Amino acid sequence: MDRHEYSALELREGIARRDFTAREVCETVFTRIRAWDPKFKIFLASDEQGAYSAATEVDRKLAAGESAGPLAGLPLALKDNLCTSGFPTTCASRILEGWRPPYNATVVERVKAAGAVLVGKVNMDEFAMGSSCENSAFFPTRNPWNPDCVAGGSSGGSAAAVAADLVPLALGSDTGGSIRQPASFCGVVGLKPTYGRVSRFGLVAFASSLDQIGPLARNVEDAALLLSVIAGHDQRDATSTDLPVPDYLLRLKEGVKGLKIGLPREFISAGIHPEIKTALDTAQKVFADAGVELIEVALPHAEYCLAAYYLVATAEASSNLARYDGVQYGQRVSGDNLLEMYAATRATGFGAEVKRRIMLGTYALSAGYYEAYYKKALQVRTLIQRDFEQAMTKCDLILTPTSPTTAFSLGEKTKDPLTMYLSDVFTTSANLAGLPGVSIPGGFSSEGLPIGLQLIGKAYDEETLLRTAYAFQSRTDWHTRRPAMEEAK
Ligand code: GLN
Repeated sequence: MDRHEYSALELREGIARRDFTAREVCETVFTRIRAWDPKFKIFLASDEQGAYSAATEVDRKLAAGESAGPLAGLPLALKDNLCTSGFPTTCASRILEGWRPPYNATVVERVKAAGAVLVGKVNMDEFAMGSSCENSAFFPTRNPWNPDCVAGGSSGGSAAAVAADLVPLALGSDTGGSIRQPASFCGVVGLKPTYGRVSRFGLVAFASSLDQIGPLARNVEDAALLLSVIAGHDQRDATSTDLPVPDYLLRLKEGVKGLKIGLPREFISAGIHPEIKTALDTAQKVFADAGVELIEVALPHAEYCLAAYYLVATAEASSNLARYDGVQYGQRVSGDNLLEMYAATRATGFGAEVKRRIMLGTYALSAGYYEAYYKKALQVRTLIQRDFEQAMTKCDLILTPTSPTTAFSLGEKTKDPLTMYLSDVFTTSANLAGLPGVSIPGGFSSEGLPIGLQLIGKAYDEETLLRTAYAFQSRTDWHTRRPAMEEAK
């Protein structure tokens, strides 16, 4: 096995045993980035200098017998909406081009303190709005399994970086599916924690009541490792919980005998691709063999998830994005007076999808429409939360496909925002209800594209969620398959 194929835990062991140094791991990463990034367009900015100095520090600590942290020497890629002190953070938007945040996001601080080697910032849909990475103002990221297909979105760069074996670990953010959907398109593991489990301080806000940061990795163990490091209370984010953080690796292998998994009948009938349906059926057998009881559950308001999501998310986005006016951040386009400067800056700085969302959200919040749209959406959100509470009295977890399709072709859905939005039909529910969800590799289509399965857990019970994901992984080999990736031209 080549070193780039090592999982995070294998690398950690190798570095700790001094089989190889953190610097050597760093060399492997940048050699691969140089070879493959021109083809798959994953990185917006890499930080070779920063990475080597972090790796050198890890090697020094280990040589001196000091402890170097749970992520010592592990290469990690960051979605470009996570603030990095003094290092460009663009959210894949022209409006933030050239902006360097004055501070680090809490998750960035935590992974650095744990010894991770930050290799750079990766591509995404502009301000995390999208499902394909095609809304990046710079370029779309391509899928390592087929470069003519999208990597998914909005954390497409994070998923592709892991799938292409450039890095073993990445962080993404998920507002309506943006970690899980690209993870499923790229055949990796992606976890959205419970709302409040991970600090959002320094995550550029899209929709603050839905956003969460989470790990992407090639396997469940690595995702568990990274979650253990980033989870926990942060006094700079009032919505982060002070519940204790378990070591998510500790009970990972304890098995799932006696657990109950619910299958929501509303989701199973909703226009799923037949090959994905087959993967879901097979998964049920795998879980049954592992000692899980499968039952049918009802989520009667599931059909309203997308509508509620696109009202709540756009309403919050319209307010959050009001701050980009050319005064404090990034780009400014001058105008004859202050208002014209605002207008010109926003007209040139934002892409089409971001403008569409700002307009939708402003409309939903405006006098006369607020009651009919935004307030209604919040009421529906409550009903969806109650559906899950009800369902979870009968089961421990819920199983669905992650997305109704596998990765689609570049350009296939860009002309039709509504079909693009449908990509999130199974994922938005967990954000609306605040629950943790994970996408795990669950098979392949006849075209050789990965199929992802989603498990949704109870609030703050990422432990059971990961344990169940691990039980599936240990009985299947989908996560071990790698994309062929012909040599870059
Ligand atoms: N694809 C969804 C959207 O476009 C979700 C995005 C996200 O989770 N950030 O809003």
